[in-house]
Amino acid sequence: MTTILRLGHRRGRDDRISTHVGLVARQFGAGKIIYAGEKDENMMESLEDVVKRWGGNFSVEYNKSFRKTIREFDGTTIHLTMYGIPFQEKMEELKEVKDKEDLLIVVGSQKVPKEIYDMVDHNIAVGSQPHSEVAALGVFMYELDGGKIPQDFKNAEIEVVPQEKGKKTLEK
Ligand code: SAM
Repeated sequence: MTTILRLGHRRGRDDRISTHVGLVARQFGAGKIIYAGEKDENMMESLEDVVKRWGGNFSVEYNKSFRKTIREFDGTTIHLTMYGIPFQEKMEELKEVKDKEDLLIVVGSQKVPKEIYDMVDHNIAVGSQPHSEVAALGVFMYELDGGKIPQDFKNAEIEVVPQEKGKKTLEK
């Protein structure tokens, strides 16, 4: 299973982007997101509501201590950062690791504590320019899964029927 750790959530200021990190994590196949920083029940509930309506096995947790989450994780830890090694250089190795072990993918927010870089197994860049945790996570998970996007979200109450134009959904 792949778990995402989202560092440094700030209530009010980061609601939208933290929710989007969770939505991307779920769409691209993670089984869990753990939020660190400020506890934000509203933001977490809005994400849980998406899971309830749109299905899939995806859980949402809060753990104030990112240190504990990383140290106690039983598997391989990967921090996404513009300062890391370009993901293309590590992808084959990481795909093999993913087949054998659980992964914890760490994404930051405004300021990432320096100690994270030494705590994790890998520091990986999606380009060496500053951009966004949402984009970095989406591209990295997509590549790690060999360019696939999970389609099967079990127990959904609602499902999209793909259309050239317009919006069609099925209520189940
Ligand atoms: N300035 C912050 C710092 O202390 O490093 C990072 C701010 S950035 C808006 C928020 C997060 O987006 C980062 O912590 C990282 O997880 C992700 N990110 C941004 N650009 C990235 C890149 N080129 N490659 C991988 N991750 C990136």
